[in-house]
Amino acid sequence: MSNQKHRNWTANNPLKRMLYSAKKRASDLGLPFNLTEDDLTLPTVCPALGIPLSAGRGKRHSGSYSLDRINPALGYVPGNVVVISDLANRIKTNATADQVAAVADWLQAIENEIKYNPMTRIDFLAVHCSATPAGGKHEAIGAADIRRWHREKGWRDIGYHFVIKRDGTVETGRPTDQPGAHEPRINSRSLAVCLVGGAPPIGSEAARKGLGEANFTPVQYASLKTLLTTLTRKHPKAEVLGHRDVPGVQKACPSFAVREWWAANKP
Ligand SMILES: [Zn+2]
Repeated sequence: MSNQKHRNWTANNPLKRMLYSAKKRASDLGLPFNLTEDDLTLPTVCPALGIPLSAGRGKRHSGSYSLDRINPALGYVPGNVVVISDLANRIKTNATADQVAAVADWLQAIENEIKYNPMTRIDFLAVHCSATPAGGKHEAIGAADIRRWHREKGWRDIGYHFVIKRDGTVETGRPTDQPGAHEPRINSRSLAVCLVGGAPPIGSEAARKGLGEANFTPVQYASLKTLLTTLTRKHPKAEVLGHRDVPGVQKACPSFAVREWWAANKP
C-alpha cells in the first residue's frame, strides 16, 4: 500500500487499525490479546475528557482514538479495554485513579500559585504546625528551612505567612497580601501561622499511626498569643482556628485544639 492509501485505510478502519496495533503491542509486551471488533465500540467523544474523537489521517492528535487497557497488566481482553482519546491515554499511561488524582491536585496547586490574586479580605487566621518532632536538630527549624521544602514542591515561596520557631522567635514568611499555600479551602482568604513542631518522635507508635503531638514550647505559645493578638486587631472579623478545624479537612495539624486555646488565652 502506498503511504496515501495507508493513511486513508487507517482513517476508514479505525477499529481494525487499533486491533492491529494492540495485537502487535500485546506480543511485544508479552500480554494476553483476545479481542475482536465486536468487543469494541467507537465513541464520538472521549469518555474521560469529553473532547471529540476522530481517526485523523496519518498523524496522531489529542482526539485520536486510542485503545486503553483499564488495568494495564491484564492485557487486551474483553472487558478490560475502552476507546478514549490519545490525550487521555497519554495522561493516564499506567497510573491508577489515585495517582492521576494526586497529579491533578499537585497541578491545581501549582496553577493557583502562579496566577494568584492579592488578598483583599482575611476571614481566617489559621494555625498550622510543621509536623516535625521536638528535640535534636529539629529544634533549629525555621522559615528558611520550610521555604526550601516548599520550593522543592514547586511552590513559588514558603506556604505560611509566619513561622514561630521552637525558641519563640517569630519569622515572616510569604508577604501577607499574597495568598499562602497551606489549605486549598481557605488559601485565598486567610493568613497562616506555622508553629515548628507538632509531630511525635520518628519511629514511635504515634508516628506510625500518623498522630500529632502537642510538643510546643511555652515560649512558642506566648509568641502565638502575641502574634494572634496583633493579627486579630488588624483583622477583627477573622476567625482564629486550627488547620484541622477547617470543614472537610482530615488532618491532625496543628496537633492541639486552637479554638479552645484561643478562647482561654485571647486578651
Ligand atoms: Zn496545617
